[in-house]
Amino acid sequence: MDKETLWQSVQNKSLLEDVAKGKEVIWLNDDLTTASKAFSDIPFTMADIDDAEARLARFAPFIQTIFPETVPQNGLIESPLTEIPSMQKHLETKYGAEISGRLFLKQDSHLAISGSIKARGGIYEVLKHAEDLALEHGKIKQTDDYTKFASPEFHSFFSQFKIQVGSTGNLGMSIGIMSAALGFHVIVHMSADAKQWKKDLLRQRGAEVIEYDDDYSKAVEVGRKNSDADPTSYFVDDENSPTLFLGYAVAAKRLQKQLQAQNIAIDAQHPLFVYIPCGVGGAPGGVAFGLKQLFGDAVHVFFIEPTQAPCMLVGMASGLQNKVSVQDFGLTGQTHADGLAVGRASGFVGGVMKHLLSGILSLEDYHIYDYMRDIVHTENIFLEPSACASFWGVSKLNTSEMQHYIQKAGLQNHMQNAIHIPWATGGNLVPAEIREEYMHTYLK
Ligand SMILES: *Cc1c(COP(=O)(O)O)cnc(C)c1O
Repeated sequence: MDKETLWQSVQNKSLLEDVAKGKEVIWLNDDLTTASKAFSDIPFTMADIDDAEARLARFAPFIQTIFPETVPQNGLIESPLTEIPSMQKHLETKYGAEISGRLFLKQDSHLAISGSIKARGGIYEVLKHAEDLALEHGKIKQTDDYTKFASPEFHSFFSQFKIQVGSTGNLGMSIGIMSAALGFHVIVHMSADAKQWKKDLLRQRGAEVIEYDDDYSKAVEVGRKNSDADPTSYFVDDENSPTLFLGYAVAAKRLQKQLQAQNIAIDAQHPLFVYIPCGVGGAPGGVAFGLKQLFGDAVHVFFIEPTQAPCMLVGMASGLQNKVSVQDFGLTGQTHADGLAVGRASGFVGGVMKHLLSGILSLEDYHIYDYMRDIVHTENIFLEPSACASFWGVSKLNTSEMQHYIQKAGLQNHMQNAIHIPWATGGNLVPAEIREEYMHTYLK
């Protein structure tokens, strides 16, 4: 889009001028409505999330057969919800944050199999595709024992088919590991941002990895083109996939159970604040949609993005959604937060979030390494740098923007009851030597 047309057509012009200068901003979504009103425009319902949850339950016996690490959870891929009071205190003393209520970490960093939030949507989409093929070819009924999917017969059946995906890293790992485990010929198209160790690990698991000097959009474009030209190939479309989205949304039902198990009520007087790092939007969008379905107006979801790659922010704040990229605003799209290195957001997710998302905060890259050291030192939990962007939201509650939000939502007298959850989106598979390198990375 040319510059003049762009600036003539944007909403929130003065905020976007700051974004274009690479400044850290807080955008509050003026289009936020009640959840029930928002749902009338959204093509998914709770029944779709229930359907995804039931599919994951059907596959649980298979999952625990080939990934023994999931046996303790009976084949469910789920992460701990951990209260982190030392980190809460540390954010207050070190950064002057003011956090009323309790601080918990949702440790998707520690999800089984692929160590990131992509183990939700990515793995779910591969399983759904495998089930669709098996049903279509009469190899299974939904009432069968799905350990069949681990048999040599199924492995050789799936080897006739390809799965392809474009990725900055973690999605490729989830799709690659699960596809290869089922027997598929899986091809992962990886952008220049993708880390070497992720490519190595994938190749070792039997995935084909194609590398690009270009960014994520290019990897996706070529992956899609190659896949579309091949009738045996299925493309996992991170930018437009309702299947991925619903896989992510199941997280909300699991979280609800974890909160109940800790006797934590969420309602108008006990608000839930969730802060999720955002790349193309599928993972945070799916989780947010699920949370809104379950907790309605009692949950307040904020996305966090890097100042050089705030693709959802420029799309939603301008009102132009995926018609604009961060490059249109003169930004580089480059960030140390490799999981968030996306220049153009999913238009589909932006549309679903239009009336559900509370706001988006952007941060400079140096904070993520500082938070990464903070959470290691205070709670002994390792997260990858991208995931640490989640602490930015909860650290900014005392800004005028966030205070304005709290007032407007009528929550000023309820914040002492609030539950805050930074969503830690990845980290467990990062090799020791890379962790060490990150621990010594200072950008400021
Ligand atoms: C993918 C990813 C995200 C964001 O998910 P999107 O679906 O791209 O928005 C956040 N953190 C990490 C570590 C990721 O890998």
